[in-house]
Amino acid sequence: MPMAYDDNNIFAKILRGEIPNDTVAENAHALAFRDIAPKTPVHVLVIPKGKYVSFDDFAANASPEEITDFMRLAAEVTRAEGVSLDQGQGFRAITNAGSHGVQEVPHFHLHIMGGRNMGPMVT
Ligand code: 5GP
Repeated sequence: MPMAYDDNNIFAKILRGEIPNDTVAENAHALAFRDIAPKTPVHVLVIPKGKYVSFDDFAANASPEEITDFMRLAAEVTRAEGVSLDQGQGFRAITNAGSHGVQEVPHFHLHIMGGRNMGPMVT
């Protein structure tokens, strides 16, 4: 059973064109845009265009085409931002889920972060 999705979340509004975004790349099933409050020199959010609340919702319920487009767009972003392993010094790709993950926006998104060494993972 899919998780309940809130059509009023901020990324749903971005997808509907109701609020602006700084788009980095896009394909049929996914959109990548700059985080409004970047925590690292490169900080891009990759989201599916479909209505998925979180990573586990997306991974369990999205179609193979949606998952492939999402992953390929994330890879495209690392290249476009110059942080892919063959171009730069790498990146961190993270997703926060639910209350313990401290997820702020209830539309699945992957943070692509790079441009500096982020140190060890912290909790
Ligand atoms: P979360 O905590 O849910 O993993 O991350 C949500 C991210 O969305 C945060 O890094 C926050 O800065 C970003 N964000 C929140 N509102 C907006 C917005 O209106 N536009 C953009 N581009 N990013 C946003």
